[in-house]
Amino acid sequence: MSDLEEPALLTIDLAAIVANYRLLAAQAPMAELAPAVKADAYGLGMAKVAPALAAAGARRFFVAWLAEGIALRALLPDAVIHVLNGLEPGRAGPYRAHRLIPCLDSLEAIREWVEGGGGPAVLHLDTGISRLGMPPEEWAALAKENGLRNRLELVLAMTHLACGDDAANPMNAAQRTAFLSAIDTLGLAGGRVPLSIAASSGIFLGPEYHLDLTRPGAALYGLPPLNGHPNPMRQVVRLQAKILQVRRVDSHMTVGYGATHRTTRPSRLATVSAGYADGLFRALGNRGHAYLGPVRVPVVGRVSMDLLTLDVTDAPPELARRGATIDLIGPHHSVDDLAGEAGTIGYEMLTALGRRYPRRYLDAGTAR
Ligand SMILES: *Cc1c(COP(=O)(O)O)cnc(C)c1O
Repeated sequence: MSDLEEPALLTIDLAAIVANYRLLAAQAPMAELAPAVKADAYGLGMAKVAPALAAAGARRFFVAWLAEGIALRALLPDAVIHVLNGLEPGRAGPYRAHRLIPCLDSLEAIREWVEGGGGPAVLHLDTGISRLGMPPEEWAALAKENGLRNRLELVLAMTHLACGDDAANPMNAAQRTAFLSAIDTLGLAGGRVPLSIAASSGIFLGPEYHLDLTRPGAALYGLPPLNGHPNPMRQVVRLQAKILQVRRVDSHMTVGYGATHRTTRPSRLATVSAGYADGLFRALGNRGHAYLGPVRVPVVGRVSMDLLTLDVTDAPPELARRGATIDLIGPHHSVDDLAGEAGTIGYEMLTALGRRYPRRYLDAGTAR
């Protein structure tokens, strides 16, 4: 394995993202696939990821913030852009100026949008997640307010599953039923407005969840869509870092801040140039792992801001040497593996990776 030039390197495989786009599109062939690129494409860089997806055929995108929509508009002049956080209060002007479509989530937001001049909008209904979306007690009111509803220029109606990653959870079917009955109540059934339920996991719950449009994020970026099932997605991210120093220590030596690890045998320790400032959570202290080539090595002691320490006693010395490269996320250790060791999920791991790493993007042109 050739050594890194930089202290650490984040490699993002755009070809793998495009391959995942195609796999998801094939899984829900009757639905339009509209990628979620919020939070800087889950930390992977919207400026690279969104144009690669557009080149692969995506026409419509979801962001969370108005500001993300404005940034995406500059990248993709012709895309349809939906803002999941809805209409940020008092800011209808910039939505219109940048042709951004809010996912309206309350009667109040609908009034603000329509009375301020209207324009295309998404209706976001809350069917059980109690987070964003119009709550059920407002559906009937909207159904009765014919004037308001008729002035709404709806391009999509959507809801979001609370437990989509758990295929056996009865809440999925309950939310789907509630959504379709709300659509009926609102007079939007029968193809009058395109409908959407599925994010990444919903695509794998069966065709009855696909409807007209899917909005995956995580699966595009390689995360597993369903808990307890093999991951069909291609891995997108590799995170490598350099060994800065290897030391031999005796038995009973303590390692790192707080002396939370004590060696139980003469050991070799490798100090690596990545820490919690780089999204390697402190929770990985004494729990995380990395790979030195094919050899799994444990994190020992606490993770500090810029450094972490691995016990490489069991790795061959020719691998565990100053300047060698280790994989924190790589072929043997997925984002979700590392996230699991930190007691979190791949979503949080990806979005936390931070800005310090030099990044290498593998060209989408090589997509199969
Ligand atoms: C983030 C988000 C998505 C994408 O979800 P994934 O699980 O990453 O596929 C879709 N819809 C809504 C409302 C979201 O907030």
